[in-house]
Amino acid sequence: MQNYKIAVLKGDGIGPEIVNESIKVLDAVAEKCGFTVEYDEALLGGSAIDAVGVPLPDETVAKCKAADSTLLGAVGGPKWDSLPGNVRPEKGLLGIRSALGLFANLRPARIFEPLRDASPLRADIINGSLDIMVVRELTGGIYFGERGRLNENGVEAAYDTEKYSVTEIERIARIGFDMAMKRSKKLCSVDKANVLESSRLWRETVTKMSKEYPEVELSFMYVDNCAMQLVRNPSQFDVILTSNIFGDILSDEASMISGSIGMLASASLGASGAGLYEPIHGSAPDIAGQNKANPLATILSVAMMLKYSLGQPEASDVIEKAVAEVLTEARTPDIYVDGFRKVTCSEMGDLVCAKIKAL
Ligand code: NAD
Repeated sequence: MQNYKIAVLKGDGIGPEIVNESIKVLDAVAEKCGFTVEYDEALLGGSAIDAVGVPLPDETVAKCKAADSTLLGAVGGPKWDSLPGNVRPEKGLLGIRSALGLFANLRPARIFEPLRDASPLRADIINGSLDIMVVRELTGGIYFGERGRLNENGVEAAYDTEKYSVTEIERIARIGFDMAMKRSKKLCSVDKANVLESSRLWRETVTKMSKEYPEVELSFMYVDNCAMQLVRNPSQFDVILTSNIFGDILSDEASMISGSIGMLASASLGASGAGLYEPIHGSAPDIAGQNKANPLATILSVAMMLKYSLGQPEASDVIEKAVAEVLTEARTPDIYVDGFRKVTCSEMGDLVCAKIKAL
């Protein structure tokens, strides 16, 4: 029987609650589909700072490298907000992505039919289905560029640098083009080429690569226009290819179109294929420890892991079907509307497991 070793980074805030439910679901689907899973827990973020003084211990990197894939909850919280930048929980998050060479972040934003009414956009704006895949560059750009503080004639100043090499652009663009080929063959590359030199190189590189993908309909859009188009006519998009910072912002915007940040999964991939899977939301300190969090984004991240890293697409489909069915009956508070059963985080996990068994 196939056995998978999964590194588990529960993190901070709601991280442990949502990851525990996802493990329950992964065990349920493993039993149904005939494979086994072993878990290897490691520290990341604020909990790592508290335990060993750094947000990303070496042991965590080693455990993730040895695993078939990694499941992450979320990191951060007010407790660690006043620490200097290099020992903040978020440094651990950026560090693990970098240590694992995860240069691509795939963020699907789609509407589950039972949640159509949860979208803040009018029904006539979301005409038809909404199924967008944001392909975000993850280990370059301004989040990793040179930064610092200056003193300019007695006035304090600070700077951050956006830098991309052709190699970095090519490898993320290839993921974008390949993804477009598997979907509707439409790729929109988003940049700020009217202002930024790094965006102009991005555009030139993507244009050159498009010759290798004659079937893909490639378009370009400025990021400010894209932010507007996402709420004006989101169905025009299929695959959006963009940089680290623009992808960070646009995927959060896209997530709200689909109803709740608690529903959105993500995958981060590198050359090895092992990948790191995490919800797009943060550690939600406002509801941590209250059993109120929506675990579905993390559960759907497990579904993506099964598809993109573990070679178990049927098991992935089983989870997605179970989630869609549960949503016709039960809701966590973030997506609750009258007429449904209001459930806790752990009840939601139990319901998904029960559906998986019944499917
Ligand atoms: P957040 O995503 O944690 O929360 C934003 C809002 O969404 C909150 O009201 C929260 O209660 C709600 N929410 C988020 N996830 C939810 C879920 N699963 N179910 C129900 N409601 C949910 O963003 P924030 O408040 O800006 O950040 C809080 C902390 O998380 C900060 O320390 C931040 O740095 C960190 N953060 C971590 C990650 C990550 O680990 N990948 C991502 C973003 C923010």
